[in-house]
Amino acid sequence: MNRVALLFFAYLVIPESVHGQSTHTVSNVAAESWPIVIAHRGASGYLPEHTTEAAAYAHAQGADYIEQDCVVSKDNVPVVLHDITLDRVTNVADVFPDRHRADHHWYVFDFTLEELRLLNVQERYRQTGSSRFPAGRGHFQIATLREHVELIRGLDQSRRTATGFYIELMEPARHHAEQIDVAASVLKVLKESELEGKDDLIYLQCFDERELRRLRVDLKCRLPLVQLCRTPPTGQQIRKYARFADGLGISIDCVISGMTSGKDPTPIFTDVIRLSHENAMQVHVRTVQTDRLPKSAESVDQLLDWLVQGAGADGIFSDHPDAILLWRASKSPQIRTGPFQLIRKRKD
Ligand code: CA
Repeated sequence: MNRVALLFFAYLVIPESVHGQSTHTVSNVAAESWPIVIAHRGASGYLPEHTTEAAAYAHAQGADYIEQDCVVSKDNVPVVLHDITLDRVTNVADVFPDRHRADHHWYVFDFTLEELRLLNVQERYRQTGSSRFPAGRGHFQIATLREHVELIRGLDQSRRTATGFYIELMEPARHHAEQIDVAASVLKVLKESELEGKDDLIYLQCFDERELRRLRVDLKCRLPLVQLCRTPPTGQQIRKYARFADGLGISIDCVISGMTSGKDPTPIFTDVIRLSHENAMQVHVRTVQTDRLPKSAESVDQLLDWLVQGAGADGIFSDHPDAILLWRASKSPQIRTGPFQLIRKRKD
């Protein structure tokens, strides 16, 4: 077996050894998984983000959850894309040269799904290897949320696993301005996919606090909700978020001070995770990238030691889920097993 084949074989077998057994039910996957490993935009460190290829590769690596960022098309179909504009990750300028707005951006909600299907997806710039999948190389396309759900469920059947969905509502206010309701569109797909029960492995996340409240209160959503934050939330903010959300999604800098400056190799932990746990909130930390570690961290393993064992993170978003899973497997059984249990069980 040559090296490439050997590496590929390793990827195929790693998930089984990480999970420790080949058959899972929904509950025993959750019980074995701590911290949860969330594939950020799929295995986006290896393949163009949010493509079905990136999702399939994250699944093969054994990620517990796979992230889907959702933007809605002109004809009300949630598609899995990070940006509300198409310029950075597709060849839209070549295919529809005249369809940009005055700001010279091409917006997803100006295109029907049929039109979006004509575009090729390329890799977003990365620190290393940005030439792997530039425009015109490979054949990657935009896929709908429904297609991602179908893909992951099919792979779950094939591999006898249960993989979770971690869906972000992108820029709801911008959607509302276009008379599009991203939350309602996503909930409709989940309902049609029978993915709305409290036992389903699914999180909904959003930066927009108003929209998360609306999901909980007006749209009667009972799924776990995660409030995303750009800066470290105060204790007062955490208590406020805990009234409608079940967790926080925060950056590495919100957990460990001064990580990007590299001035101090000793981690200084903020009290965000401690305060969140006191308020029964899980904390999922983004984004661990093996090709772009914070300056203070010597290795991905050291960074994970700090985030999980030092600070108590309950989940890790990564472009390289395999690296996090290898770390988790190497720690077993030293790290506590079983899921973080503070997530509140909602009665109805
Ligand atoms: Ca996201």
